[in-house]
Amino acid sequence: MTDSSIITLSEKSVKNNVSFFKSKLGDRAKISAVVKANAYGHGIEQIVPVFEKYGIDHFSVFYYSEAVRVYNCLSKPRSIMVMGWMCDENIRDAIIKGIEFFVFSLERLSAAIEFARALHLKAKIHIEVETGMNRSGLNSDALNKAISIIKENREQIEISGFCTHLAGAESISNYFRIQNQLQKYNEMLANFEANDLFPQYKHVANSAAAFVYPEARMDLVRVGIMLYGFWSSAEVFIQYINSQKNKIDPLKRILGWTSQIMTIKEVKSGEFVGYGISYLAQTNITTALVPVGYSMGYSRSLSNKGRVLIRGHRCSVIGVVNMNMIIVDITHVKNAEVGNEVVLIGKQGKLEIKVSAFSEISDELNYEILAHLSESISRIIVKK
Ligand SMILES: *Cc1c(COP(=O)(O)O)cnc(C)c1O
Repeated sequence: MTDSSIITLSEKSVKNNVSFFKSKLGDRAKISAVVKANAYGHGIEQIVPVFEKYGIDHFSVFYYSEAVRVYNCLSKPRSIMVMGWMCDENIRDAIIKGIEFFVFSLERLSAAIEFARALHLKAKIHIEVETGMNRSGLNSDALNKAISIIKENREQIEISGFCTHLAGAESISNYFRIQNQLQKYNEMLANFEANDLFPQYKHVANSAAAFVYPEARMDLVRVGIMLYGFWSSAEVFIQYINSQKNKIDPLKRILGWTSQIMTIKEVKSGEFVGYGISYLAQTNITTALVPVGYSMGYSRSLSNKGRVLIRGHRCSVIGVVNMNMIIVDITHVKNAEVGNEVVLIGKQGKLEIKVSAFSEISDELNYEILAHLSESISRIIVKK
């Protein structure tokens, strides 16, 4: 291995997760694969073609720059939806490329219409309404204004969607807030449709909502975290598994991350290891240096807490995580050698290091750990 570390992506797991979601959702609701944050760290260029191979033909991103990356790696034109940031120049380019985008303000609606008119094209927009999350979206007054603007400019606008985002479907504590949001959404939609404006897709659900609130599935679900094999929260998992006869997790994690031993050292009892005084050897120990640190996404909060796998053994990270290195205790590992595989995330033999275990010891969300995996790490697809 020439790289200091490598991310592997399991094609079999992609297939498994996509087909699980499809069977769960039935025919009506389409899946939009959310591939923001470099496809939750998996790598847009690597994972998008695999999603495509297993039948995904709709993709969601946050930044316009991500939309362009998806656009460039698709085998043919498919729906790409920008849920967040674009500058005015991006709006123009999106209309040319047929990339869809959220409209959450009247300014963006006007910009879309102006560019579309100049280009003699239609802007494909998703009207995003404010239903109670208070993050982005048109409130009732702004929606009424948008309705009249759209009616005056029908030639410039294609209404690809009508949407909102729910504030925390992964926790039952948000149940009433979400019920209120769904009610508000339905009222706003009724108003929209009463004006003879009919969106192609009605959509409000992320992974958790698609599971917990079947009525939220509508025509399209924007699935991120669960497509990658992670449950949105322990609650969503427990609720699902309790309803099943066999208690097997139907999702499979796609991503693995491995490195190798760079050098091995003996450290005497009473010596400190690494920077400062964060780790003191209590006995004579053997350590291995692994060339991965926080610059690659191995969180500093795993200092003295992280675990890796070497030769089928669990080994502890000792001392602080450095920018490019971690030191692990391999005293109990027989015959460890420079070049031996070090599993940072994923399986080795019977053992597994899970991202969820990272989050438990470091207070970071699955989402956050995945999103921090550096784009500079090589990613390869493996068949198994
Ligand atoms: C990130 C995001 C999603 C996907 O959420 P998951 O919990 O990863 O499924 C859906 N919709 C919007 C608006 C998002 O920002």
